[in-house]
Amino acid sequence: MGMDLYTYVGAFFKIPTQYEEYNKVKRKCGEHKVLESDIYCSTCGSEIEEVISTHKRVLDCEDLIGNESFFSPYIEGEITYFLTNISSSCQINTDSHLPTVITPELIQEKILNFEKTHKKDIELMKKKTGCEIKVEFGFLNYYM
Ligand SMILES: [Zn+2]
Repeated sequence: MGMDLYTYVGAFFKIPTQYEEYNKVKRKCGEHKVLESDIYCSTCGSEIEEVISTHKRVLDCEDLIGNESFFSPYIEGEITYFLTNISSSCQINTDSHLPTVITPELIQEKILNFEKTHKKDIELMKKKTGCEIKVEFGFLNYYM
């Protein structure tokens, strides 16, 4: 199974990529791995220190709004794009063998359909991230 290239043409919105910080605690004497319960290193006898390091992880659609009704967000560095996979009314069928004329009216229709279909998701996203959300129309290539 290889990676297939898809082209999405339709409504979407983008927000700055959202992160969550978390701490990791490591116990070590400085050189050796130690057990959770050790106070002194069983290998060298040194006192064990707790070292806290902060990491961050990228939040996905499920983390942000509790469902995956959007297309898995497409994360490109500091920008995350939210496409839809549940409504053809928000997209243009790129498998069609007939040429599709993209008119301003068609663009407007797809944007409005996206806003309607994802009204709840967009509200949740605004609340969770504090981001302004503007639905736009465009295309994107991605691998699946
Ligand atoms: Zn040690």
